[in-house]
Amino acid sequence: MSESIRNLMADVIAKNPTEPEFHQAVQEVAESLEIVLERHPEYRSFKILERIIEPERVIMFRVPWEDDQGKVQINRGFRIEMNSAIGPYKGGLRFHPSVNLGILKFLAFEQVFKNSLTTLPMGGGKGGSDFDPKGKSDSEVMRFCQSFMRELYRHIGANTDIPAGDIGVGGREIGFLFGQYKKIKNEFTGILTGKGLNWGGSLIRPEATGYGAVYFAAEMLSTKGESLEGKKCLVSGSGNVAQYTTEKILNLGGKVLTVSDSSGYIYDEAGIDSDKLAFVINLKNVRRGRIKEYQGKYPDAVYTQLDPNLEYNPLWNHKADCAFPSATQNEINLKDAENLLNNGVYVVSEGSNMPTTPEGVNLFVEKGILYGPGKAANAGGVAVSGLEMAQNSMRFNWTKDEVDNRLQIIMKAIHKTCIDTAEKYGTPGNYVNGANIGGFIKVADAMIDQGIV
Ligand code: NDP
Repeated sequence: MSESIRNLMADVIAKNPTEPEFHQAVQEVAESLEIVLERHPEYRSFKILERIIEPERVIMFRVPWEDDQGKVQINRGFRIEMNSAIGPYKGGLRFHPSVNLGILKFLAFEQVFKNSLTTLPMGGGKGGSDFDPKGKSDSEVMRFCQSFMRELYRHIGANTDIPAGDIGVGGREIGFLFGQYKKIKNEFTGILTGKGLNWGGSLIRPEATGYGAVYFAAEMLSTKGESLEGKKCLVSGSGNVAQYTTEKILNLGGKVLTVSDSSGYIYDEAGIDSDKLAFVINLKNVRRGRIKEYQGKYPDAVYTQLDPNLEYNPLWNHKADCAFPSATQNEINLKDAENLLNNGVYVVSEGSNMPTTPEGVNLFVEKGILYGPGKAANAGGVAVSGLEMAQNSMRFNWTKDEVDNRLQIIMKAIHKTCIDTAEKYGTPGNYVNGANIGGFIKVADAMIDQGIV
């Protein structure tokens, strides 16, 4: 690490002392950018890196709501408006008890580069709350969402900031949020993406992140003349991203061996076929149950409860070819990365955001496996959100095939940007550098064009 990056990181840590995930995300990007800053002194003189790590605006607010017993509950709401150099702020809302300012800032920061890579005009943002939808009734979730939107509505808009879903925010939550916005503002505009199909949503949006991560893996494999046909795959999570990652792997002839939730994971030697996937989708999206129930339905599968004392996640310790982390940040540490490599995994396509710790990332890069970092591999979700915005503006809907084709074109373009940029900056095959530099340049140039704002 150069002295200037060391100084920058010391500054970031001093200014944001309790935000380790934010430090992690900034450091990875800053290290990739050293060579860019050497070749482009204008980025240094305009202090682009120093400006890009500072959110344009942070909104933090109280979210009071009443539970089913009539008791008052209070959560904290956030929206990070990170960067609007190439378009309105765009990025999801996360409802999870672990949510805090640092986690949302890391996600918003990553989002800036990801959105730039999609080729679409979208800036970066992220938001959410420490509210936990698990175990809450639909009415409680509705009252929470309505209270959350009672503050958020004044900060968002179709040309200002367009949130979407993330962990804990799916179709149900987007519906309640949209309904409340419409009620307050008396207007029907595309202020959220991930909307229901009959009220402004786009076909393929629910599928887009998972499909995109698999398309990205297929692109990486094609550089070696290979495909997903017959490949054994480990998937973590069982939410939106994991479900559609599994579906697309099956479509392309691969075999999925695992799914998980925050309590434990399922290993199914026979493979999770489309009937079993339908069971998982119903379990998670309709019954809102735990993944453990899979074993009750399919007794040949093995359920392993999460053991917080273990220094590795056994899900990543099975023989396989590909891994698709699709749950949460830092779910693959160095030990997990070693286990993956020892078990034959040579393709990692990240559906979740920053799922691999820096030591794990370094190992993957050093070993030269096909490693697609989240900001490239999972950009399909926000890309189709961009397509949802385009359809809303046109007041017209594309067919499923049209959206899916555009998604595939975008994932190919992101892959090409990563490959070409990594090559141009002297690190061929390094998708981490390719994604960080490729995403950065477009935003940096726009920031220079727009002056010191
Ligand atoms: P969901 O809420 O639909 O699913 C999340 C899944 O991950 C659930 O199975 C959940 O288990 C599990 N999980 C969540 N937190 C943890 C944890 N701390 N430890 C272990 N498992 C956990 O979210 P999504 O599928 O939408 O998001 C998954 C990841 O993908 C996130 O990193 C998100 O930022 C990223 N992503 C999502 C996009 C989207 O379009 N939805 C776009 C780009 C990235 P449980 O049910 O027990 O909570």
